[in-house]
Amino acid sequence: MKQTIQQAVKDISKAKNIVALTGAGISVESGIPPFRGKGGLWEKYDPMEFAHIQSFLRNPKRAWDMIKDAMQSLITGAKPNDGHLGLAKLEEMGLLHTIITQNVDGLHQAAGNTDVIEYHGTFAWVYCMSCNKRYRMEEIDLNTTPPKCACSGILRPDCVFFGEAIPYDALTRSQTVASQCDLMLVIGTSAVVHPAASVPYYAEQNNAIIIEINPSPTPLTGTLSHYIIEGPAGEVMRNIINSF
Ligand code: NAD
Ligand code: ZN
Repeated sequence: MKQTIQQAVKDISKAKNIVALTGAGISVESGIPPFRGKGGLWEKYDPMEFAHIQSFLRNPKRAWDMIKDAMQSLITGAKPNDGHLGLAKLEEMGLLHTIITQNVDGLHQAAGNTDVIEYHGTFAWVYCMSCNKRYRMEEIDLNTTPPKCACSGILRPDCVFFGEAIPYDALTRSQTVASQCDLMLVIGTSAVVHPAASVPYYAEQNNAIIIEINPSPTPLTGTLSHYIIEGPAGEVMRNIINSF
């Protein structure tokens, strides 16, 4: 790992425009499980049951009970780890410009990053499926599920379920920033959920250096990424920042 860290520090120092693409893995050390892999939510829930819009619409109570149990209770109270804080530091150093995240936990903003594209929306907000009124997740009562709007419509999280489109602004801006960067950090993503997994291809078209940080190889490893630093995001980012 030491050698790849040194290489990464060299590459990051030389880069002019760094963009990061992050996935559930960067929040694992904050206590939020990923979907896939060891300890992932998919070991407990069927993805199509848990995260598909049709399943939510068919039975919002059941969906909310799963969301509450598996995600919401963990996101509430979670703190950024050294992975998030390392990216905030890179922004402070003027190196990192934008984070494209697939996460819905708000931990990049909590760490201090100011330009975060939330590719799959956010759990910080919910909105009414009847009148579109928005509420902060923390102000709604989840003791009775599904939570309801003042108009008695059913509330849903402002995230992107399977079967739904990526918000237009997030999609187009991600393509733009990825195709302009000269170095992309791909951290904690299994790189199998499309279209998010295609974001690094825009960076490749600009001849950007693509560095993965992940304890396990992904479909990008050895194909698209120049190298992988195999390890947990928090530990790796801590080492990178301490090596400047
Ligand atoms: P994923 O669950 O498909 O894959 C997780 C990846 O993280 C794997 O490649 C795994 O090897 C890696 N990983 C595990 N521990 C790690 C660590 N300590 N450091 C770095 N990497 C680690 O995640 P995905 O690719 O982001 O796709 C799943 C989708 O699930 C996302 O699009 C997101 O919307 C949603 N999700 C979000 C959260 C969150 O907001 N924290 C949590 C779970 C799922
Ligand atoms: Zn309403």
